[in-house]
Amino acid sequence: MHWIDGHIDLAYVAMCGRNILEPCKETEKSCISIPDLVKSSISTFFGTIYTSQANDFCGYGNSSNREAAFAAGAKQLELYKNIESQGLLSIQHEGCKCSESLSMLLLMEGADPIRSPEDVEWWAEQGLRIVGLTWSSGTRYAGGNDCETGITDEGKELVASLDEHAIVHDASHLSDCAFDDLCSNTKGAIIASHSNSRAVLNNHSQRHLTDEQAKEIFRRGGVIGLNLCTQFLSKTFDKNNTDATIDDCVEHIMHYCELAGNRTQVALGSDFDGGFPTTYLPINLKHPNQVCNLAEALLDAGFNEDDLASFAHGAWMSVLN
Ligand SMILES: [Zn+2]
Repeated sequence: MHWIDGHIDLAYVAMCGRNILEPCKETEKSCISIPDLVKSSISTFFGTIYTSQANDFCGYGNSSNREAAFAAGAKQLELYKNIESQGLLSIQHEGCKCSESLSMLLLMEGADPIRSPEDVEWWAEQGLRIVGLTWSSGTRYAGGNDCETGITDEGKELVASLDEHAIVHDASHLSDCAFDDLCSNTKGAIIASHSNSRAVLNNHSQRHLTDEQAKEIFRRGGVIGLNLCTQFLSKTFDKNNTDATIDDCVEHIMHYCELAGNRTQVALGSDFDGGFPTTYLPINLKHPNQVCNLAEALLDAGFNEDDLASFAHGAWMSVLN
């Protein structure tokens, strides 16, 4: 079974100093590299260009510094292009397919590197396919999940420009207010590349999707990717600090399928190892080569082979095609 993973911060972990051309050696800390992906069933992934204002490795000071933000994003683009030029990876510029060899679609997490709405054309030419307006802390385009603000006027212009270039919107990390603004400013496709259910977690964090938000994404034909970070999976994490389980994953997936009324709009958006160590991944899901364990659990929970194929790759293919 081929898998498409909707969210992997590969360039970011390289920015942090990891040699992503070598297999991960300290498996308790890291699991993402080109060789680790090659030996797993994940043949295609949405590779992020992740930036945020104050980050040590991918920061740019603040949002008003457009050139610095552009440079931070372009550096990660260059890294992907460099790996592609070595024949280790191919960047899919249109459609979305499961390739035999490793391939990726470019996803920008935090849109400050797009200097202005006019800049979208250049980024689209580079292969940019999906854009999330912001990470948690906000950008000059939108409030993130740590903010109470919505989409700015310039952000609304950016949304229109992204639509013109058929770039898909990623709602993960938007504040609730920004989510509403996005819905009222686009008729285009909206996904949430790596967001779990606020109702299942029974908490109030804007980092997770409300049932209403999930239903709106499904109503528009979008897809939600399951995030594998323990804190975003386990209802009891805050109390006992234990690892999430595959059962926690299944609970979020089934809840989403119920809201969608089908099993074709939920997929994987693992965030494997991006900004958190492998200890924060669920038990028996600590490495991309363990996605088969999630597949088995979904079959046990009542998925048939078609449902599973949709979760593994079909859902992402349908929305990106
Ligand atoms: Zn993220």
